[in-house]
Amino acid sequence: MTALSSWDLMAEGAGQRPALTGRPAKARVLILGAGTSGLVVAHELVKLGYDVHVLEARNRVGGIAWSVRKGATHTELGPGGETQVCTWDEGQYVNAGAWRIPHSHSGILGYCRELGVPMQVFLNDSDANYFYYEGAAAGTLANRKIRMREVKADITGQVNELLVKAIDQKQLDLPMTADDQKRLTDFLVRQGYMDASTRTYKAFADRGEGDPLKLAALLEAGFGNRLRSVPPMEGTAAAPMFQPVGGMDQICQAFARAIGPKRLTFNAAVESVHQDDTGVKVVYKNTKTGKKTELTADYVVACLPLSILSGIDINLSDTMMQAVKRVTYSDSAKIGLAMKRRFWEEDDRIFGGHLYSDLPIGQFSYPSHDYFTKKGVLLGLYSNGPIADLIERPIAQRVEHVLTHASKVHPQIRAEFESAYAVFWKKVPYSNGGYATVRAVSLREQISKVENRIVIGSAATAPRSLPDWQEGAVAAGWQALQSVHERAMRG
Ligand SMILES: Cc1cc2nc3c(=O)[nH]c(=O)nc-3n(C[C@H](O)[C@H](O)[C@H](O)COP(=O)(O)OP(=O)(O)OC[C@H]3O[C@@H](n4cnc5c(N)ncnc54)[C@H](O)[C@@H]3O)c2cc1C
Repeated sequence: MTALSSWDLMAEGAGQRPALTGRPAKARVLILGAGTSGLVVAHELVKLGYDVHVLEARNRVGGIAWSVRKGATHTELGPGGETQVCTWDEGQYVNAGAWRIPHSHSGILGYCRELGVPMQVFLNDSDANYFYYEGAAAGTLANRKIRMREVKADITGQVNELLVKAIDQKQLDLPMTADDQKRLTDFLVRQGYMDASTRTYKAFADRGEGDPLKLAALLEAGFGNRLRSVPPMEGTAAAPMFQPVGGMDQICQAFARAIGPKRLTFNAAVESVHQDDTGVKVVYKNTKTGKKTELTADYVVACLPLSILSGIDINLSDTMMQAVKRVTYSDSAKIGLAMKRRFWEEDDRIFGGHLYSDLPIGQFSYPSHDYFTKKGVLLGLYSNGPIADLIERPIAQRVEHVLTHASKVHPQIRAEFESAYAVFWKKVPYSNGGYATVRAVSLREQISKVENRIVIGSAATAPRSLPDWQEGAVAAGWQALQSVHERAMRG
């Protein structure tokens, strides 16, 4: 957790979009992959007047920015890989990959503004949401549903009471005038909802029913670790966060519209990329018909996951290919659970945000959209590392695992459950993993070098931000854009 959160804190914005001018004589560029990075490169090259074409193995844009909705399908990699087809009602969806954008990610949000993608707030934290910790480590508060509102109020109220006592007993080791002490005490009493006459913290209506939970028990349970005075500017706990209305794939669909359908070929799985001094030949296979086609270009920008690129017949140097093979990808997974009724809103008055738990389902989240409608899709599981041997089990068992654990908090979940869709990225064709986990700057620098007519532009090469954010894909795309433009202008 510590490693992950320090990583998140480093995921700063992509910086300035490169301001490029000029159009080279030889300007035909093939872009491999229509994920966020490939579409950023394509969009910017089209604006510069290049002759651009994008080859995409799937029948859709977006790559990891995938919103699973009715009709979505994939067959898991590996022996006996199961096929799922999403049967949810029209309008129901879950973002299986990227799902939230911190306000500081000006690169990707700048494109939302430029392309007119309607955005809405993604609710990351909500005081109505429950804590539910299991096991001895949570002490006396184990296996109880406790609202964030109660936790916040009780920790703040009791800490403030201690401080007020210390001030009253002249124990405060801080030079303060009598007036300052009064002002501080008044602030603590008011901020912590303390009883002004007894200067103690007691139950009060706005925290919810029941007596305050003991400070020692709250700290022992570890609930306090989830509280900060303000949300950080960066990372998974940033606020505010945003999401496109209707699903994360709306950003890539807007890019595709701007680029134009004639510049995109779907169902085109690239198999080989061969460059020489005169140009680059790319062979792709039509995934529907099996037909192979050869295209030529002056330059290629490869925006494929490196887990895929490493298996392609491509004439990059040994040094480059060794570096490419060193890049690993997360074994991220998400399971969306379609519900007949938004019971979390109707019964529990929870509107978006997450469950704060240590259950073996990673993050469990409520949709931040379509409030007060009838149905909804819960994010039943979101993990970025293995959860026991879940990935090896049949999909029905993975879903059962989630329902078993989630029903400890929401007993209604079984009765309201309609159907699930599971995305375990290591088993998803054309991804072979979640986001790149490469952190070493030297490795990122190596894989972003131009080798004659080919440059890699997928998120793993991000010079700023990190590959676990679309902002990293934008930064990587901009870097590749600049490299290919400089190379092309040299001729
Ligand atoms: C579970 C998860 C949660 C995430 N959450 C967030 C989040 O909340 N916010 C955020 O901003 N980011 C998030 N990210 C990160 C973000 O999704 C990625 O950084 C970004 O989408 C990567 O874009 P990309 O273009 O580099 O790669 P990809 O999206 O992987 O695009 C590569 C493209 O290449 C195509 N391709 C593959 N093989 C071939 C082939 N042989 N021929 C042709 N095409 C091929 C693929 O189909 C794909 O379209 C998350 C990632 C994961 C896995």
